[in-house]
Amino acid sequence: MNAAGGQQGLRLPVVVAIDGPSASGKGTLARRLATEFGCVYVDSGAMYRTLAWWALQKGLRCQKPMRAEDEDAVVGLMRRWDARVRVIDGEAWIHVAGYFPREEIRSDRVEKAVPMVAQITRVRVWMVALQRECARHGPLVMEGRDIGTEVFPLATVKFFLEADAAVRQQRLEGRGNAGSVGEVRDAMDATRRKGALYAALDAIRINNTHQTADETYEIMREHVATRLCRPA
Ligand code: C5P
Repeated sequence: MNAAGGQQGLRLPVVVAIDGPSASGKGTLARRLATEFGCVYVDSGAMYRTLAWWALQKGLRCQKPMRAEDEDAVVGLMRRWDARVRVIDGEAWIHVAGYFPREEIRSDRVEKAVPMVAQITRVRVWMVALQRECARHGPLVMEGRDIGTEVFPLATVKFFLEADAAVRQQRLEGRGNAGSVGEVRDAMDATRRKGALYAALDAIRINNTHQTADETYEIMREHVATRLCRPA
């Protein structure tokens, strides 16, 4: 099925927004939906991770507490970096000087640095603009923390995925993320001034603690099919 079909004449971009805390299942489900509905998949977290990685590469300090000069250094770097979104096989990724650090952005160092970088308001303003520009590439499935609230408040369909903390912790450990890194990240994501993690009022909330990925997927697929095939 192609998400562009049935949307003719509608000026708003077609966007499926998926938000939720770490290990709530966003990535896997977003990718599957994008493939099935012919949308470009965008992992907005990878964009923040790429900036955190680049800042670490350049020797910048990205630890708590972030001082004003640390934030200024990250923002200065971001305004100078040669970053571009490239769509490869239906997935949009930021490349820095032509390189996408696929493995590097999943390292423990980046895992710890990313919420520090993501809580800087000037970083968020820049990232949100870049994320909105992705709509130029066609219908999107975008996952993150503030997609339905800040990036695309008029998204076609919004989901907010949740799961109990213990289950999310198990999933994180299964991916090799030890300790409380996910918990710390979630707490910072939920309490920052701009782009804090919360469910949009019109988001479809799904708690998948006791669901298999296939069960959650079926629920989401139904909603997306209904909205994309019979737009309001
Ligand atoms: O989605 P992922 O876990 O890879 O995101 C990594 C981090 O990037 C989050 O913990 C958060 O600090 C930041 N992020 C964000 N806004 C988004 C997506 C991710 O602040 N829309």
